[in-house]
Amino acid sequence: MWETEDMDSPLQEGNVLDIIDESSVRLYNEIVRVHCFVCGETFLGPKDKAGMFIFGHKKFHLWEIDLDDLGGV
Ligand SMILES: [Zn+2]
Repeated sequence: MWETEDMDSPLQEGNVLDIIDESSVRLYNEIVRVHCFVCGETFLGPKDKAGMFIFGHKKFHLWEIDLDDLGGV
C-alpha cells in the first residue's frame, strides 16, 4: 500500500515550507528548482539543499575534467 503524492506534494517550486525533523525546525524554506548546466540534472527542494546540489555537481564535473587532463593527449 502506497500513496501517490504527485497531486498535492508540498514540494512544488515557489512553495514555502516549514521543515521539521527530530533535531530541528526550519521555517519558511522556499522550494526552488535548479539544474546543472553541465549534465542537465534537475533538483527541486529547499535552497540549502539546492546549494549542495550545485556545489556537488560543480565539484564532480571539475573532477571529471581533471581526470581528462591527467589522461591527456
Ligand atoms: Zn551535473
